[in-house]
Amino acid sequence: MEKIYTIPVNDAYDSDCECPLCDLKEKAEQNFLDYYLGPSLMEPDTRKITNKTGFCPHHMGMLNNSEAGRLGLGLMLHTHLKDIDADISKDIRDAIPDKAGLIKGRSSDYKAKLNKVADKIDRRVNMCPICEKIDDSMAHYYDVIAWMFKHDPDFHKKFANKSCCLPHTAELLRAASKLSQNDAAEFLTVLADNNDKNIKTLTDDVEWFTLKFDYRNNDKPWGNSKNAIQRTMRYLSSDRRDFDEQQRK
Ligand SMILES: [Zn+2]
Ligand SMILES: [Zn+2]
Repeated sequence: MEKIYTIPVNDAYDSDCECPLCDLKEKAEQNFLDYYLGPSLMEPDTRKITNKTGFCPHHMGMLNNSEAGRLGLGLMLHTHLKDIDADISKDIRDAIPDKAGLIKGRSSDYKAKLNKVADKIDRRVNMCPICEKIDDSMAHYYDVIAWMFKHDPDFHKKFANKSCCLPHTAELLRAASKLSQNDAAEFLTVLADNNDKNIKTLTDDVEWFTLKFDYRNNDKPWGNSKNAIQRTMRYLSSDRRDFDEQQRK
């Protein structure tokens, strides 16, 4: 198995993050943001793609937060706007229905047309080479994890000691669907055990968080419940920086 994948996987499972896959995703995302904010923004091959795709709303926000690559971004956006204009503006105008009159009568054809143009706009808005590259990297990581679980006894132990968020549990289930039935059974047993433990802890912690609002519990210790809401939301949604109680302070 290629080291370029096994090393980051081991690093993520060694770190004290809540979900190693969220950790891997965040690092991949940062790499690709740096890539697209760097000299690649001016490279003809990259520009051929980004002029067409632009970036999704989430990643445009992240690109905007960086001071780097302003000129490259401006040049890319200028060409991208022209591309969007050529591809979309006429469709919007063409979707304007004829007004119903005495001769023409009413027709509901225009409704389908409007929805079609709206769907096309949605597709264009969500096109994003950063998302695509992250998805590619993550797909490799899911397979590598399933492979290491079987072939690397050290990793097997690490995997058993670390749970992950719910969206990434779904991805690991998909990776396991490519394994033999016996391999999938072993992998899933550990995954399910981890998930049970994780949910039980979060449920108890959130409950204690709510019980702390009862004045009779005023003087009792918080235990691990202070950030139970954020931890639960991260479990349910994948790690999100805006749920991070530490960074919000
Ligand atoms: Zn995750
Ligand atoms: Zn994106």
